[in-house]
Amino acid sequence: DTFKYASINEGINSTLTILNNKAKKKNAIIKSELQDKLPDIECLPGRINQVFMNIINNAIQAVDQNTGLITIKSSYLEGDEHISISIKDNGVGMPQAVIDKIFEPFFTTKDVGEGTGLGLSISYGIIQKHGGEIMVASKPKTEQNPESYTEFTIHLPIVGKND
Ligand code: ADP
Ligand code: MG
Repeated sequence: DTFKYASINEGINSTLTILNNKAKKKNAIIKSELQDKLPDIECLPGRINQVFMNIINNAIQAVDQNTGLITIKSSYLEGDEHISISIKDNGVGMPQAVIDKIFEPFFTTKDVGEGTGLGLSISYGIIQKHGGEIMVASKPKTEQNPESYTEFTIHLPIVGKND
């Protein structure tokens, strides 16, 4: 595989084009707040797009019909060696016991046909291969706290670290 400089914003936009119909069927709102002049990063663009596809697809599946809001942000702070991408949804959220397992291969809470449990483990491997990080914060819906959410944050080094 050869790393090349590519635009992460373009990768996010093309992923959103592919997922547009699925989001429409759920009547979910997708807000993208992509930073202008985000530096290109040295990466495997097809692999990185696969990560966006997995995470945004999970977000669409996680939100309820008609009330879904998914916010996708890209950002870069002058002087940093990495860019950040955040994908946040107001879906069901996850309890800690689920969060602990989501990056394991074949872990899924979905019915057969809905998911294989491979998306996040593959995504984790792809981000590792780039020398980046993938983090998650989530709160499940409870009677005391109806405001559930899940947010994935990815840091990707600008200069590829093919390890
Ligand atoms: P799959 O989607 O096939 O189940 P993934 O590896 O993509 O496999 O995700 C593993 C599990 O992580 C899911 O089954 C679900 O329980 C949880 N998960 C992932 N993303 C979200 C999200 N945005 N909101 C709530 N749960 C999620
Ligand atoms: Mg998935």
